[in-house]
Amino acid sequence: MSQTHTARLMDGTDLAHRISEASASRAAEITRESGTAPCLATVLVGDDSASVTYVRMKRARCEKAGIVSRHLGLPATATTAELVGAITALSQDPEVHGILLQHPVGPYIDERVAFEAIAPDKDVDGVTMRSFAAMSFGLPGFVSCTPGGIMRLLEEYDVDPAGKHAVVVGRSAILGKPVGMLLLGRNATVTYCHSHTTGLGSIVRQADILVAAVGRPRFIRGEDIKPGAIVIDAGYNPGNIGDVDVETARTRANLITPVPGGVGPMTIAVLLAQTVEAAAEQLGLGSGRSVLRS
Ligand code: NAP
Repeated sequence: MSQTHTARLMDGTDLAHRISEASASRAAEITRESGTAPCLATVLVGDDSASVTYVRMKRARCEKAGIVSRHLGLPATATTAELVGAITALSQDPEVHGILLQHPVGPYIDERVAFEAIAPDKDVDGVTMRSFAAMSFGLPGFVSCTPGGIMRLLEEYDVDPAGKHAVVVGRSAILGKPVGMLLLGRNATVTYCHSHTTGLGSIVRQADILVAAVGRPRFIRGEDIKPGAIVIDAGYNPGNIGDVDVETARTRANLITPVPGGVGPMTIAVLLAQTVEAAAEQLGLGSGRSVLRS
């Protein structure tokens, strides 16, 4: 790469907008045909300000797309049993088609137990073990939203992961692990890195596709980016700063996601798309072609 090279930006805002428009059309169609609007229930424990903002954003985007938003707030003192009871009731409510439990749920709740109370056909955030297993086996089911959004962005920019070395830095259940499984499903050779990885820089330097999902500002050094690499910066740190040192990374990468405006908007877009798909399925209208790819 020459000194003047600048990577092309992968525009998640525009793609997310198009997916949201497609979800809105599908939601209107479902409402017309069944007499019932798709409904997403959001569940929030406590009042962590970032979580409150995320839930508010998700609800506003639902309503804009013609998806009914139902909200359940529980106090920070709620027990695992109380949260499981509330989620089980939503799982059994025929008027609710998708359930989103905002995480983190705080230190007093067993998050895994709470997630597993979400009925698989309403798991539009792709957080249950069943969804993860189906996704890993390449079977139908809902994908974890941020990883699903990353894969859709790669498709949009004609990046075929087959045969490429994909390095995923981070292995959380909602981001690192599932995105690695989705890349494996698309025939990439996948390496996971985490806090115990030694020689991180030398592994990052081998990445044809790099996914940074660490949660540390500018953690990935630009000089470690392989020339021509595809760089997905999933990090979102205070001050709109990603996990990749974008200024230097841009002089070496072929494609890179900006922060903000790359991966972030895709997460909600996938959530909306999966909610209307869940509603169509539950209302007997068939899933049809995925609005994510229409
Ligand atoms: P997380 O649960 O805190 O996981 C962070 C991961 O980074 C862990 O697997 C951890 O390894 C690894 N890590 C920490 N220090 C490391 C080091 N020094 N070297 C290598 N790996 C290291 O975070 P997350 O929920 O996956 O989120 C990651 C980032 O993505 C955050 O900035 C978050 O805000 C952002 N995010 C964005 C969206 C979106 O919609 N755009 C959605 C979700 C998350 P261990 O497993 O060994 O601890």
